[in-house]
Amino acid sequence: MNRFSYTRADDIASALNAHNAPAAAFLAGGTNLVDLIKEGVARPDRLVDIRRLPMKAIEAADNGGMRIGALATNSAVAYDERIQSRYPLLSKALLAGASAQIRNVATVGGNMLQRTRCHYFYDTATPCNKREPGAGCGAMNGVNRIHAILGASEHCIAVHPSDMCVALAALDASVLVTSDSGDRTIAFDEFHRLPGDTPQKDTNLRDDEMILAVDLPAEGFADHHAYVKVRDRASYAFALVAVALGLKLDGDRIDDVRCALGGVAHKPWRNRDAEAALRGKTLTRAAVRDFASAMVSDARGRPCNAFKIELTTRAIVRAFEHASGNKLAASEDDPT
Ligand code: SF4
Repeated sequence: MNRFSYTRADDIASALNAHNAPAAAFLAGGTNLVDLIKEGVARPDRLVDIRRLPMKAIEAADNGGMRIGALATNSAVAYDERIQSRYPLLSKALLAGASAQIRNVATVGGNMLQRTRCHYFYDTATPCNKREPGAGCGAMNGVNRIHAILGASEHCIAVHPSDMCVALAALDASVLVTSDSGDRTIAFDEFHRLPGDTPQKDTNLRDDEMILAVDLPAEGFADHHAYVKVRDRASYAFALVAVALGLKLDGDRIDDVRCALGGVAHKPWRNRDAEAALRGKTLTRAAVRDFASAMVSDARGRPCNAFKIELTTRAIVRAFEHASGNKLAASEDDPT
């Protein structure tokens, strides 16, 4: 572990000012950052503790949606009665992640900025382009069972580990950030990046920016939603595949659909063309299977993870079953 200084910020301006150093890092819950420091993966020379900043509120927003402060804990959001009633998809995704102890301290902003759990990224004895650009990728021809099937590059096949972010992507949330040059809003879909030839960059957040809040739109898909997480054990495990689904149904007609995938790409994965093609169709197992196939049409499996492609399509069908109250199983083209 390298030596670092520690500063506790009392307001946003002083936090931004203290963070203005080449290797400074914001410290909130610390549930990922402290591990990264202990493993020698993160080497900040200055930690800026932002836990005292007034960014914990969960409140109604003018657009009819809700604003969640970046320092609200995962537990506070998951158990907030307004979130549970209006955005149950988000609450369920949060409760599918980590453990109760971690959720009690991990923050919304930190959840968004957590880094991949690729084993090679954490093992400093192996090459990793994300940890050390240009070093190579140990996972490419290694044990890549947990790695990406969509959106990967020749430089990195890591996946984004968050559950919360998969739900936020499906909900079309947005991210409010600030810097010395003012505030700006980033669409959630644009917040995380694909690896391309810069896998060291997980997000489009600039070095001088800090996350203030996440904004939820008014539509929360409370009536028809599902979060399906497939993992190796029932709790405290990252997703092999996750599906966040929101539906608007008019009888058996699909008026709207939002679907985001986790565990399969470097960011929560949306396919808006596939969603558009499903809108207006009758909810049948055949239509959902076609949609699931379209969601993974660009997938590429590797020796250890090709199983994820079929697993993803089945998880998507399962999500539609949950979200529709099992209408799928009763549809005409599938009498079982
Ligand atoms: Fe590093 Fe990405 Fe390769 Fe993992 S997949 S070893 S994070 S470059």
